[in-house]
Amino acid sequence: MSHKIKGGCQCGAVRYSTDAEPMVTFNCHCTHCQQASGAPFTTAVAVQRENMTISGDVIEHTQTSDLGTLVHRFSCAKCGAYVYGISDGFGATAVNAVTLDDASWVEPQMEVYVSSAQPWTHMDPALPKFDKLPPMEES
Ligand SMILES: [Zn+2]
Ligand SMILES: [Zn+2]
Repeated sequence: MSHKIKGGCQCGAVRYSTDAEPMVTFNCHCTHCQQASGAPFTTAVAVQRENMTISGDVIEHTQTSDLGTLVHRFSCAKCGAYVYGISDGFGATAVNAVTLDDASWVEPQMEVYVSSAQPWTHMDPALPKFDKLPPMEES
């Protein structure tokens, strides 16, 4: 039990926590992430959806990904901060890493949707990069 995953929005109305260990951490350069976060990319920490406790009023915005799956993004109803996302068919919650109370331990493992990255974004040359998503096992 690490208690690494604990955080919330800018105003404090939305809070989340889980004892689950992070599954994977990645920088996502997709256009939707850019628009939702107001930044050139988001750093997402994927955690098991079941164990997550979330409180506070959120607004949901649903978009269709390039794979045709629905992606639900949840932002604070008061301050508007983008806190987490859920992609249908992916059994995890993607926490927006900058909303963690302590994000200093976060270490992105890959860059995804590099095909839509802003040309002025600096990426770690050592990280694996995928035009879209890495090949998935399962189904
Ligand atoms: Zn808020
Ligand atoms: Zn994205």
